[in-house]
Amino acid sequence: MIYPIVKYGDPVLEKPCPPVTAFDEELRKLVADMFESMYAAHGVGLAAPQIGISKRVAVVDVTFKEDPNAKLVLVNPEILHTEGKQKDNEGCLSLPEFRERVTRPNKVTVRAQDLQGKFFEHTGEGLLARAFMHETDHLDGKLFIQHVSTLKRDLIKRKVRKLIKAGEWK
Ligand SMILES: [Zn+2]
Repeated sequence: MIYPIVKYGDPVLEKPCPPVTAFDEELRKLVADMFESMYAAHGVGLAAPQIGISKRVAVVDVTFKEDPNAKLVLVNPEILHTEGKQKDNEGCLSLPEFRERVTRPNKVTVRAQDLQGKFFEHTGEGLLARAFMHETDHLDGKLFIQHVSTLKRDLIKRKVRKLIKAGEWK
């Protein structure tokens, strides 16, 4: 099932998600729906609160369907280790049309559980490292605009408020 993407302004995006405790059929269905919703929205990462579900789950595929092995399910992810720095444009499905330069670590090791509840570690570089940081942030109730200057953040907020008023932010 394809869910609509929740946009910035919805409080579900700004509260930390409780951890997953049941590794059951419902979780498998949620993850399948998250991949479907992410691809439909042309994204390379999606966190559960972005479809309105406050659970500590994210999916990532930085190859966008090219490599089936690149599909990653992160249940209860935590950032274990970061290294280096990268500066690049970053966007978010919940803030469409807005892209800003965000500095992130260049190499990131995440520890998470899979659909069976088994713990694993995964190290990513470049875009994958950025995705790990971005999606884990979502699960902590944070958006990428918290990593830009106050000036830029206020400008984005103002533009979003205008779009909401005009009924163009859905
Ligand atoms: Zn995002």
